[in-house]
Amino acid sequence: MKQHRPRNFASDNNAPVCPEAWEAMQEANLHHASAYGTDPWTEKACEAIRDIFETKCEVFFAFNGTAANSLSLASLCQSYHSVICHSLAHVETDECGAPEFYSGGSKILLVEGEDGKVSPDSVEATVHRRSDLHFPKPKAVSITQSTEVGTTYTPAELRQLGAITHGLGLHLHMDGARFANALAELNCPPKDLTWKAGVDVLCLGGTKNGLAIGEAVVFFNHQLANEFEYRCKQAGQLCSKMRYLSAPWLGVLRDGAWLRHASHANACAARLEAGLREIPGAGILFPREANAVFAQLNDRIISGLYARGWEFYNFIAAGGCRLMCSWDTTEQDVDDFLADVADLTASGEDHRKSHPVLRH
Ligand SMILES: *Cc1c(COP(=O)(O)O)cnc(C)c1O
Repeated sequence: MKQHRPRNFASDNNAPVCPEAWEAMQEANLHHASAYGTDPWTEKACEAIRDIFETKCEVFFAFNGTAANSLSLASLCQSYHSVICHSLAHVETDECGAPEFYSGGSKILLVEGEDGKVSPDSVEATVHRRSDLHFPKPKAVSITQSTEVGTTYTPAELRQLGAITHGLGLHLHMDGARFANALAELNCPPKDLTWKAGVDVLCLGGTKNGLAIGEAVVFFNHQLANEFEYRCKQAGQLCSKMRYLSAPWLGVLRDGAWLRHASHANACAARLEAGLREIPGAGILFPREANAVFAQLNDRIISGLYARGWEFYNFIAAGGCRLMCSWDTTEQDVDDFLADVADLTASGEDHRKSHPVLRH
């Protein structure tokens, strides 16, 4: 029989709400407060984000990452523009065309680059390939930090991309659904990964970091934030009881809980990676630089792990098994998983009939 496990490796959005976010919601839950973002929690949460980035950025809250990404990209582009991103980018593969829809038709142009990262050369080549008016004019580059395959852009890589992007007259958008994990790993001031490197707008992820709901859209380029509140409202992204969307940010930001949680998730992933490297036959597909490990396991092992109640995806991004750690993953979870991989490797036990490996 399939075991029920309290925690798994399917996604960091499968994890519950972290205590700091939960407590902040409760603190905001005492009295009446004004609606649509004019409450004191929202003001303080915006201020807390400005403190973290050490600049007077414009901050908006959205319910999810798809909205944050597509609305912010729409504010960088006209309908006849295009957005350059990696072929594995969430905006391309997992947003059901929302960036194109909200921008009224801006085309996504795909480029490649090692380890899920946009290569600066491919940006230049794409922009220079065509300059006639029959081709949708590139206007933005979108990058993901940390990437869809669990790698990170270093500050130097970001500065180089930022310089090239701006040199070509384009804006730089960052999908930071897992920005906290990248920041925790790189251990540098948040400004070094954003506006100092040329990022114009960051979609700062809250959900995968331990919030119940919500992402912050942070504009470092003030002009691009012009009338953004109207876009949010039109798209159904203006929360009327805004304090429940904003207060949890205060909870995770006020004593560094967001980075503690992210470092913990990263450390669990590092432990998982190290353990897998010890097991013959288990391969690691990408450098582990955040909270995900992409492992190559054979179908017999995958089916055996499913039969023992483990959950993880085996088709996300570039393939392989994506093992995602979250703020509440325990070392014991990691060790139990590794023990099962080792045991299945040694035993020859086969569950492929009862737990087939499904691939898209
Ligand atoms: C999870 C995720 C998002 C946000 O997705 P939603 O389901 O719309 O909240 C955005 N970008 C990346 C890279 C993600 O992993």
